[in-house]
Order: sequence, then structure tokens, then C-alpha cells
Amino acid sequence: MTSPATTRDPFLIAVEQFDKAVKYLDISPWTAEVMRHPHRELTVYFPVEMEDGRLEVFTGYRVHHSTILGPTKGGIRYHPAVNLNEVRALAMWMTWKCAVAGLPYGGAKGGVIVDPKQLSLRELERLTRRYATEISVLMSPLGDIPAPDVNTNPQVMAWIMDTYSMHRGYSVLGVVTGKPIEVGGSLGRFDATGRGVMFTARESLQKLGMKPSQTTAVVQGFGNVGSVSALLLHELGCKIIGVSDVSGGFYNPDGLNPNELLKHWRIHSVLAGYPKAEKITNAELLELKCDLLVPAAMENQLTADNAGRVNARLIVEGANGPTTPEADEVFRQRDILVVPDVLANAGGVIVSYFEWVQGLQSFFWDEQEINRRLERLMVTNFERVWAVAQAKQVDMRTAAYILAIERVARAAELRGLYP
Ligand code: GLU
Repeated sequence: MTSPATTRDPFLIAVEQFDKAVKYLDISPWTAEVMRHPHRELTVYFPVEMEDGRLEVFTGYRVHHSTILGPTKGGIRYHPAVNLNEVRALAMWMTWKCAVAGLPYGGAKGGVIVDPKQLSLRELERLTRRYATEISVLMSPLGDIPAPDVNTNPQVMAWIMDTYSMHRGYSVLGVVTGKPIEVGGSLGRFDATGRGVMFTARESLQKLGMKPSQTTAVVQGFGNVGSVSALLLHELGCKIIGVSDVSGGFYNPDGLNPNELLKHWRIHSVLAGYPKAEKITNAELLELKCDLLVPAAMENQLTADNAGRVNARLIVEGANGPTTPEADEVFRQRDILVVPDVLANAGGVIVSYFEWVQGLQSFFWDEQEINRRLERLMVTNFERVWAVAQAKQVDMRTAAYILAIERVARAAELRGLYP
């Protein structure tokens, strides 16, 4: 873990990134001022009955950052470190992610302060159903559509869909995405974020004149994003030399097989004990000599503290907010290309959009169609951001923000100020 001294408030970081990009744009000061703030936010305290009969009160949040481009979209995370400013930052990042991707959505995020690994399945279900009910004043298929994020999964989305549907008296598929296929989920959604990371890495390597078959990669995090990214980068031909999860880092200079890692993980629910690797710390993992580093865990991983020792040529952000502005500056000086979260990990929300459209129409597409559309969008968006970065001589994060803020600002100015 990074030291607390360099761990920064994610919302202050989000605003700082926004202010850096806004300088390149000719938008009215009131539009910029509105975008610096969340639109609305809800805090809920709710009781859940635990297995031993006790009631425990949990704290949850749902924040809408922007409703300019359409309904708000963004995941729900269950984590002990969730706090309001983190959720605000994640909601703001969703606004830019949806705008860069050209989706008709604003940004939102939700979270509950909880370690779900400490709960039984029934406790997790009760917590989810109660939280879904609490946020249903904000959540709706045309207003705000949640999805999975850290420590939530298709089962949790199924409970949210069912809870909302029970209140309505009929099934509402469009209220949440990332659902299991059996209850209106989309083919390709589970792999979508990792698949998008792989497409982004592939395009970036090409720009740098590097071949996947000659690329060594390190992936931090082995959740939905990290594990699928590692699998698909391996399929692309990259040599995965390091991975990590909550139990620490695993290193093998001759290459790790993500299929075997996943098999181990499925049995033990953790990478600890994986035999064909040297055990290293999370800090060491981030500083391994490699071509491609994919941080796919949490915020604040690449900071002023360790950026000078990162030994990669290319960083593709699978997580939201893994790099602080100070680290971004170090990477710029060291000529390390950083492809930002709002571009690189957009595959998830892009296929969420496909799932939402399919659910609203009750007309479902095949997986090939979904992956083809995802690839086309990821590549086009990458090229657009690359072109802005070249034209304005800015880093890829600032370029992505310039595109995103411009889209939202233009729509805001066309819609005008109410009343
Ligand atoms: N939680 C994911 C993200 O950060 C997905 C959001 C969604 O699909 O709405 O992008």
C-alpha cells in the first residue's frame, strides 16, 4: 500500500484534473463552476439483520454528478474505505468516461461502507435489497442506472433488479446493468472492462511501435477487471510477469499463465499459495521492470512516492483513479505514456449501455455483435483522444478531459439555465 502521506482525497484530485483541462477550453465560467460540483447526493443509514439476530446500521451513498447528457450511470462498490468524497470523485469520473465514449449518460456512483467478505450470503442479500430500496428515490431505468464496481457482481445486480421490480409489480430490466444473462444481462458484459483494457493496450503499444509478443506486462489487482485484462493480454501475446490481489504480489520473469492463476483463485478465492511464482509485495509489484503496467485495483496507487521508481513504458489504467496528479507529472517528465481510466476502462460502461438498450427493447444481440461494437468504440475513442493529445501537446488524461468537458459543456449551454 502507498503511505498515507501521499494518499490524496480523490475528489480534490478529480477537481484538479478538471481545472487542468478546462484551461484549454472556451466554456463559460458558470458552466465550469456547475461541473466542479456533484448535482445531487444521498447518504443513507440503514439497519440490516445479521445472522445472530443483531441489527447493524450501515452507511451508503449514491451521488449523481451530471444529468446533462442523459440518465446517470455508474457502479456501486462495497468496501470498508468507501466515503462520500471517494464516491463524488468516482461519480465525476463517470461523467467524463461516458462523455469520452459518446454515451447518452451522465455520471453517478454509489457505495456502502462494508467488507462483504465478512458477511454471509443472506446478510449480503439483505444489505443489498435494503440499500437498493433506500436509493430507489434516485434510481430508475430512465433516471439512474447502477452497475457493478469493486466487490459487487452480477448476483448483487440481480437482487437490485428484483427488489426494484417487486416494488413496481413487474420486471424492470433497465434499472441496473451487469446482471446475470438469465435475468436480462448482456453477453460480453462480464469481460467488457478487461476486454476494453486489452484493446486500449493493443492500440497504445502500436503507437509506441511495440509488439504484444515482445511486451512484458504487470497487472495489479485480480478482480473482474484485473483477471480478465491479464487473460486477454496473455491471449494477445503479452508475457504476464506479475499479478497481485489482496494477498500481495506474484512474480515470474518467465511468464505467468492467467488461466492457471484463475483456476487457483476459483478454488481458494485468493491468489495466496499460488506455487509457480515468487511472492513479492504490492509496492514491489508496481516497480517491476516491464513494458506495460495495468493498475486494476484501487485509487491512489501511483503517487509522488513511487512514480519515480515505476519501471514501465506504458501505463493503462484499469482501475478508476490509480494515478495522482503528482505521479502524472513524473510520468510526463519520464516519457511514460499513461492512458487514463476514463478512456481505458470504459469497456464496462459501454457494454452496460448495450445491456440497457437491449433490456429496454427486449431484443438481445449475440456476443460477436457486442464485442465488435465494443472494439469499434474503444478504438475510435482512443484515436480521438490521441489526436487531441497530439494537437494540443497535452497528456492523454488532459486530452480525454478536454473532449469530455467540451461535450458536456456544449450540451449544458444548449439546454440553458433552468429556470
Ligand atoms: N463500475 C464500472 C466503472 O467504473 C462500470 C459502470 C457501469 O457500467 O455503469 O466504469
